[in-house]
Amino acid sequence: MTSRDRPLVFDRWPKLAESVPWMPLAETPTAVERCDALEPYTQHKEHDVDLWMKRDDLASPMYGGNKVRRYEFLFAKARAQGATALYTLGGLASTQATATAVHGRAQGFDVNLVLYNQAVTAFAREALCINAAVGANMIRAHNFVTGALRLWRELRRAPRGSAFLIEPGASSARANLGYIDAMLELAAQVDAGECPRPDAILVPAGSSGTLAAIALSLRLLQWNTEAIGVRIAPWIATNKITIGHRVRSTARFLVGRGGADPASFEGARWSVLQGFIGPGYGEPTPEAIEGAAVWKTLTGATGEVTYTGKQLAALRALVREPRFRGKTLLLWNTLSTPRPIVGPHARSLVPRAFDSVFEGPVVADSSSASGS
Ligand SMILES: *Cc1c(COP(=O)(O)O)cnc(C)c1O
Repeated sequence: MTSRDRPLVFDRWPKLAESVPWMPLAETPTAVERCDALEPYTQHKEHDVDLWMKRDDLASPMYGGNKVRRYEFLFAKARAQGATALYTLGGLASTQATATAVHGRAQGFDVNLVLYNQAVTAFAREALCINAAVGANMIRAHNFVTGALRLWRELRRAPRGSAFLIEPGASSARANLGYIDAMLELAAQVDAGECPRPDAILVPAGSSGTLAAIALSLRLLQWNTEAIGVRIAPWIATNKITIGHRVRSTARFLVGRGGADPASFEGARWSVLQGFIGPGYGEPTPEAIEGAAVWKTLTGATGEVTYTGKQLAALRALVREPRFRGKTLLLWNTLSTPRPIVGPHARSLVPRAFDSVFEGPVVADSSSASGS
């Protein structure tokens, strides 16, 4: 794996390169592998399903996952406009916050995170320690709404021109170029015979930039592949309207900036599985706790209950649907396996406002379920 000189989307639409800044952060192409190791959990072979995984968990040796490809476009934009500080909003365990902290600091940006309360898991505590250890500023908020207000205040206070906002979820049209790029990469891997063309691609769906970009790319590639999202965020944030908006705005960006043919995106389709979120975003369900523990057999690292636990629970259910008999399913791995290793001292770097997060028991997640 190596960093590229330019993204595949610039080769596909050369005009994009004229107005869209980009910088390399990811190491690509990420591998695409069979996941036979999951058989005891999914029993996919027994159900005659060919199961593959796209290893975007390894998109960076510092911190991978599905935000890195998007940040190649967002960070480059921030730099091009002279911004020196990144601002974003997420839950306590937000992988987006951690990706912003790790990659933002590595690129020399100041990083400001507003973090609102969610179920306290061991994963959340670790995320806070990583954010602090890499030098991000962290502000605690009660919930999404008060967090958004606080973020707005912080942005107003920042010196003119210095601040760059990464919207919660980082699923703007510009950011989504990262997953159009990823799909062009997958298409090249299929063409090279590294894996079969999948009949369905399964991703967790939060702000849904990943799902929208995959759905658009499938039209572009003219693959008859299903794009399936597992809803992990509240219905109000993840629904037909919000996802449709992502799809259309990303297509418009490609048409406007890249000169893409609008007809090439017509009829983009996707579906969203509703039954796995449980009580809410970041809330453990028994299936997600089990799935998060099983994640270790896939990557060697424990998963978590917000995204991957629920994605695996959905996978196990999908495999049992008769329509997938004899078909190829691709699980898109969106959670970083590499994480900065932080010592016990990192806890002391976390601002006092977060002390209560480290008090008392955590709600069950994979770390407690597997007894580690
Ligand atoms: C952000 C994130 C998602 C959700 O991606 P969206 O494009 O916002 O739907 C899924 N999995 C992981 C691990 C993430 O960090």
